[in-house]
Amino acid sequence: MPQLILKADKDFSLLRRHPWIFATSVAQLEGRARGGDTVEVVAHDGKVLGKAAWSPESKICARMWTFDAAETIDDVFFKRRVAAAIAGREVLPGLAQQQGLRLIHAESDGLPGVIADRYGDTIVLALSSAGAEKWRTAIVGALKKATGCRRIYERSDAEVRKFEGMASATGWLLGEGDPQRVIEEHGVKLGVDIATGHKTGFYLDQRDNRLLLRELAQGKRVLNCFCYSGGFSLQALAGGASEVISIDSSGPALAVAANNLLLNPQLTAERAEWRDADVFAELRKLREAEEQFDIIVLDPPKFAPSASHADRASRAYKDINLLGFKLLAPGGLLMTYSCSGGISLELFQKIVAGAALDSGRSARIVKRLQGSADHPVALTFPEGEYLKGLLIQVD
Ligand code: SAH
Repeated sequence: MPQLILKADKDFSLLRRHPWIFATSVAQLEGRARGGDTVEVVAHDGKVLGKAAWSPESKICARMWTFDAAETIDDVFFKRRVAAAIAGREVLPGLAQQQGLRLIHAESDGLPGVIADRYGDTIVLALSSAGAEKWRTAIVGALKKATGCRRIYERSDAEVRKFEGMASATGWLLGEGDPQRVIEEHGVKLGVDIATGHKTGFYLDQRDNRLLLRELAQGKRVLNCFCYSGGFSLQALAGGASEVISIDSSGPALAVAANNLLLNPQLTAERAEWRDADVFAELRKLREAEEQFDIIVLDPPKFAPSASHADRASRAYKDINLLGFKLLAPGGLLMTYSCSGGISLELFQKIVAGAALDSGRSARIVKRLQGSADHPVALTFPEGEYLKGLLIQVD
């Protein structure tokens, strides 16, 4: 097996079981390896640290499959890891019965580059690293065995594949069917287009937070910014909101949202308004019109994919949060998120605190918010904690 020899003093993060190896840490590759091949990772002093997948095109030139030097990377390895990820979810309250569920959350489930989301009887698989790509057939087999699922659709079209020199790959890997699925979440039906929707079709990570909004919404006037297919909006309606205004700049997302309302005749559709607009501009308009809301949700796309974008992203977060504070009625609640890998929780809280100060509102955090339990964060992999949120109450 080819050996990836690290430079002196570059084994520190691996000894702490962080799964990424940066190209700048590598002294040399001994033997020949192609993208996705398994390499043995060796410290400068000759100690074998485990096995990794080789990604020659990427700055992250290898991702660890195992820190056990004796473990073999083969079909059985993927069966073990996939089965463990699914078994882990089965014992956590409320997860197993979810129709929309993340089964595999990449690095945090010991499978770098592998995302698998279940939507009812269909699994959507997204592979984003050369190693994951190489083991596609093994991963599909393992998912089939662990779940009995007969339909698997591939959505390997994330931007990050470019860093690995890999083209997009989409389509049915197992079985076939209509890419338009319907799932139920907290009793609300939601259409999910697994072929064209964002990510694998839906933002499963916000499931618990949508339930929280529902619990807060009785009699409230709600503004849902960056609403996508209306997940938060529909839960607010289900929770008895008096009015829900939802904003997104994606026409297709709003079309799904409007259709989602039709799927749920138990909800009062007249209380919902969808606005196809830029949130930054629309918030200013609402402010000029002196509108006020009891609850505002801000769930923007990732403004900072990495730390190098943090400055510009900080300004964007500050801008929308400042406007959010200004639009809140007395005693109102702001549910504000960042899903940017490049913005830490600490920085996000600072930005939001700055926004509150500039708005002249006094405000306090009443709850910290995070992704649902099917999006775990490995303790050795803090990058896994991309979604952070705050529930804030103003005076
Ligand atoms: N809260 C949603 C997920 C939001 S994803 C849920 O629970 O499902 C972010 C959304 O922001 C996407 O739908 C995208 O179309 C939208 N978006 C991105 N930039 C925008 C902008 N400047 N104005 C309005 N919407 C925007």
